[in-house]
Amino acid sequence: MIDFKQLAMPGPVALKPYTPGKPVEVLERELGITGSIKLASNENPLGCSPAVTAAVQASLSGDFFARYPDAAGHELKADLAAHHGIEAERITLGNGSNDILVLLAQALLGPGRASVFSDYAFAVYPIATAAASGEARVAQALDADSDMPYGHDLEAMRALIDDKVRLVFVANPNNPTGTWLEPDGFEAFLRDVPDDVVVVLDEAYHHYQPEDWRIDARRLLDEYPNLVVTRTFSKIYGIAAMRIGYGLSHAGLADILNRVRQPFNNNAVAHVAARAALADGEFVDESVATNLTGLARVRQGLDALGVGYLPTHTNFLTFDLARDAAPVYEAMLREGVIVRPLAGYGMPNHLRTTIGTVHENERFLDALGRVLSAG
Ligand SMILES: *Cc1c(COP(=O)(O)O)cnc(C)c1O
Repeated sequence: MIDFKQLAMPGPVALKPYTPGKPVEVLERELGITGSIKLASNENPLGCSPAVTAAVQASLSGDFFARYPDAAGHELKADLAAHHGIEAERITLGNGSNDILVLLAQALLGPGRASVFSDYAFAVYPIATAAASGEARVAQALDADSDMPYGHDLEAMRALIDDKVRLVFVANPNNPTGTWLEPDGFEAFLRDVPDDVVVVLDEAYHHYQPEDWRIDARRLLDEYPNLVVTRTFSKIYGIAAMRIGYGLSHAGLADILNRVRQPFNNNAVAHVAARAALADGEFVDESVATNLTGLARVRQGLDALGVGYLPTHTNFLTFDLARDAAPVYEAMLREGVIVRPLAGYGMPNHLRTTIGTVHENERFLDALGRVLSAG
């Protein structure tokens, strides 16, 4: 008998795997029901821009499938460079932005090195750290009864940085809490962090933030060479299935990430889809507007049910059942509504719901109302 846990590096052995949101097909097969809705993974309820579907359909052919993609993603990088006003050599493409987080950990961490992130931060940070056999240092989050409950405490994070630390993960806004940072506070943090520590600003929910709260990451990238900004096409652009995201950084760091990544870490269909998605600003605006209306409705519905929730600048809302949320999650599944349990994040009384279409939001509120009144 081979003990593979003895063979493996200690990081991967100790790693707690990511639990994805339950897919509709899986739930329906398990319960023998139909017509379910998934509000568990913060996907765009409007789908994607029709320009994306058209561009992908136009590209489909046997020859297109047979060829390896452009490993460097020149065209997509050129579009992103123009979009952000940044040099193409400062862009790293990833198989989702998750890939960029993993590449950073692979390049910068290892035994004897550490990363810092907040309690209740995105689940991929501990996974990427452990996979690279780095040490994860988890900073205490802000108090549950503060203005920004469960949010990042940048002072607590700063206090964990010493000469073993090479990587800091900051999610703004954060998933699963929805909480955000003051732009000035983030810049003060960057100024204070030693410049041999790479700070990742994960902006997966960037477009959902009100304009006033957006960090001017483009300016900060020029001022702080140790900053990396990650963005994804999975959320507002509505192409999570394509697995495409990117990092913006100093060209020297992008060069390192490019050495580590698989030569074909993102695919040709994703390149086509992402370029079309980036070009459709109207779809982004429509998605933001739909989200704001939906968020207001879901908050109002939760108020009516007497259910509390965290502040959010995202396309999801994390609500507090003030008791073990697992039975509510299970009962919601039987109603055909998939939300996200947060016990794995150390928030056993909370559930997270994505803001859906008008119809989905009503179904969510109806189902929750029935579940809660059934006790
Ligand atoms: C969804 C999400 C991502 C992006 O994931 P992809 O790999 O690009 O699909 C990154 N960070 C956070 C905080 C997220 O919620």
